[in-house]
Amino acid sequence: MPIIAFKGSRVVNKRVLCDNSNFKLVRRFELISWALKNKVLKRLDRERGWVRKEPGGRLAVCLVYPNVYSLGMANLGFQTACHFFNALDNCVCERAFLPEPSDIEEFARTNTPLFSYESQTPLKEFDLVAFSIPFEQDYLNIPVILRMSGIEIETAVRPVGAPLLMAGGAAVSLNPEPLADLFDAFLIGEAEGGVEAIASRLWTLKGSRTDKRDALLALDELDYVYVPALYEFSFEGADITGARPVNGAKSKVMARKNMSLDAYPLPASFISAPEAEFSGAHLVEIERGCPRGCRFCVAGFLYLPPRWRDLGEVKAAVTEGIERVHKVGLVGAAVSEYPQLKDVLDCGMRARGSMTLSSLRLDMLDAPLLHRLKAAGYSTITVAPEAAGERMRAVINKGMTGEQIMESVRLITEAGFAKLKLYFMIGLPTETDEDARAIVDMAIGARAVMKKGAVALSVNAFIPKPFTPFQWHGFEDMDCLKRRISLIKDGLKKERGITVNVMSTSEALVQAYLARADRRAGDFIKQSVRDGLKAAMRAHDKEMRSSVSLSRQADSILPWDFIDHGLNKAYLWMEYQKGLQGAATPPCDVGRCFRCGVCLPFLQER
Ligand code: SF4
Repeated sequence: MPIIAFKGSRVVNKRVLCDNSNFKLVRRFELISWALKNKVLKRLDRERGWVRKEPGGRLAVCLVYPNVYSLGMANLGFQTACHFFNALDNCVCERAFLPEPSDIEEFARTNTPLFSYESQTPLKEFDLVAFSIPFEQDYLNIPVILRMSGIEIETAVRPVGAPLLMAGGAAVSLNPEPLADLFDAFLIGEAEGGVEAIASRLWTLKGSRTDKRDALLALDELDYVYVPALYEFSFEGADITGARPVNGAKSKVMARKNMSLDAYPLPASFISAPEAEFSGAHLVEIERGCPRGCRFCVAGFLYLPPRWRDLGEVKAAVTEGIERVHKVGLVGAAVSEYPQLKDVLDCGMRARGSMTLSSLRLDMLDAPLLHRLKAAGYSTITVAPEAAGERMRAVINKGMTGEQIMESVRLITEAGFAKLKLYFMIGLPTETDEDARAIVDMAIGARAVMKKGAVALSVNAFIPKPFTPFQWHGFEDMDCLKRRISLIKDGLKKERGITVNVMSTSEALVQAYLARADRRAGDFIKQSVRDGLKAAMRAHDKEMRSSVSLSRQADSILPWDFIDHGLNKAYLWMEYQKGLQGAATPPCDVGRCFRCGVCLPFLQER
């Protein structure tokens, strides 16, 4: 659903980015605007599965998604965290979102504090305000939400009685440092098991009148909770020269990871919301983690080892989803590698529903799968070769040849699909202008195979992410990125049936900065809400560029080094070096392979 941008807000790939809400700090609570409350009540009326609990004697949690309702309700991490909190007797969890751009003015005009959906309670009145943050782009919305809630942006100046602020989700599990000034604590890793332990600890503390410092020390006792105030860093230029825990804090934060997810409910759209992205589809996570080891892919490394959910449970969730909303989305980093995927699709089609998959790997496509996708309602096949040249795909360990890609395009065409969307990256390690030209050739080749079909290219700048083999590599120079974008656009501008969509390089720069920076990036985040994003970018231009372009060495201290996701750093470095040489690494072999370190707990169990 397109979102109409409000002055001071922009919409980037359907995500709203507030760069200056001009919203004054709410000093005292006024009445909630009836128009805003009515909109929320209407949404609740259309939802199915939401929970309303009395707060008495319970830990009151407001779970916040740092973007608009339609995106938050289509995010399984957010939905699952809400479900886990509310499954606990001693906890009540309500939801809040970044208001739509068109509503921000009404909040300001009526001095309405941001409030929760379920009971329309101002966020400031909860014991715990917990953010679920999957993407770095949304960091800039967090100070806006806090301002609208009347909550001081910086932890250090928040008064006694203010709610505790925590965050979890993929982005902060990789590198929470840019938000270190804003949050009291972070849940690093998976929500399963972690949410329950944190809620239980805070509920116990709630009754004991513990002050915030003691509460944070108690949270620090949990292996996977990071309390930024308990760590000190020293810097020299863009480098970190030292990092140490203080006040007896642990030296490593062990990310919460469950080697098996069988004990936990299948993440799904526990609350059905017709206005959610993907046409309100009922989302079901059928697997977590990807075995392929593509060296650029953060989802591939963060969620290792690959874990497939039980077929019976998946089928039951699919059937329930189709009964509820007639449309199911299968979610995971490697959905097309789910061993019984065709059975799952058959199950959905027998229930007469439509189905979508969050990812498709080109070399997993065969005629029977494509036939099922067609029957499931697909009109466009979206796949990601990522790089067009053989050498470049070897660098990223994509593990497929040009012939395989073109053979898959032929199968897609034969199956009757007339639209193909291809994802590519530019700015990958060792990339040259020739590699950008290869993207042009591959697009033309795919279009020739498709005859009258349409080919849409999506070209994004590569952002080296924490906990991947390329974490040491610098973000590509902006002029170089722009030149390669021009090469691609110019090479295809006269081609019929091929369109090119390119991510803005300045958006990519901000994203790269927020993904890779240390805690000094907090100043940029705070300034972006105070003076607007453009002013913050101008003021921090030099430091942003030197931070993102920094190519780090094997012994460099990385801002996220204090986190342990089970991935052996020496292994990641070796993979980086293999990537630079274009050497291949085979996929995971869970149970027999222990090379990256994540599966060592399996070995210890034997
Ligand atoms: S140890 Fe081997 S099987 Fe386990 S996650 Fe790492 S690469 Fe995959």
